[in-house]
Amino acid sequence: MNPMIKRLLFVFAHPDDESFACAGTMEKYREAGHEVYLICATSGCGGKTGEYLVSCKQELAALREQELSQACEVLGVSRLYLLRYADGSLANQDLNEMALKIESLILQLNPHVIVTFPPNGVTGHRDHIAISQATQQAVLQSEEKQMSSEFCSLYFTSIPHYYDYCADSAPTDAIPITGKVNIAHQRKIKGQALQAHRSQIYSVNRAYPGVMQGDYGVIGQYEYYTKVRADGKCCDIQESLDGIPIIELC
Ligand SMILES: [Zn+2]
Repeated sequence: MNPMIKRLLFVFAHPDDESFACAGTMEKYREAGHEVYLICATSGCGGKTGEYLVSCKQELAALREQELSQACEVLGVSRLYLLRYADGSLANQDLNEMALKIESLILQLNPHVIVTFPPNGVTGHRDHIAISQATQQAVLQSEEKQMSSEFCSLYFTSIPHYYDYCADSAPTDAIPITGKVNIAHQRKIKGQALQAHRSQIYSVNRAYPGVMQGDYGVIGQYEYYTKVRADGKCCDIQESLDGIPIIELC
């Protein structure tokens, strides 16, 4: 393995979570020659269908997997892992089993960086909260089997601009953001990744109005993170007093 090449593993609940939260970052690191992997826990069969008429949940799941594959192609994701849990069910699943599945992929890929949702799931969605918990547990479990040089850094992603355009209100218990990644040059690709999720046009329109029509103006210059664990230890999570610093994920 080339030591200069970093492996970044993103772990989310639904097809489209990756594009809403991290598409610019994923593309940025891929452009720089690093490897980007994505675990998606469900196939999104509980979501809306947009303009598509689908007759059953299986059909919607297949469509959303196809859309996710297309987004991954846009973003140059090295490999997509689908866990195929039922959409909306993650909070009722065996958390240990889910964590074991993620752990086995961590041990296989040995990522330098893992990104998942924060404890409030950004939107409060129970699937988002569950995948965050399972991922945190998986990181701790994998550390028990890894050498310390293999320990990853764990980040939570936040979308502080998510509620700028839609009427819903954000969950209250957001954790402080400790860094932002500059994605000024990846905004168009982020827009194209969002566009791949054609069936989710209503959700995309709510958070990123115009993007589905090819206007990427609402896509911001940054994506936001909280570094929560590195070198086998919890990080000190402090809100910076003079603005959020620009960071690299490492
Ligand atoms: Zn989601």
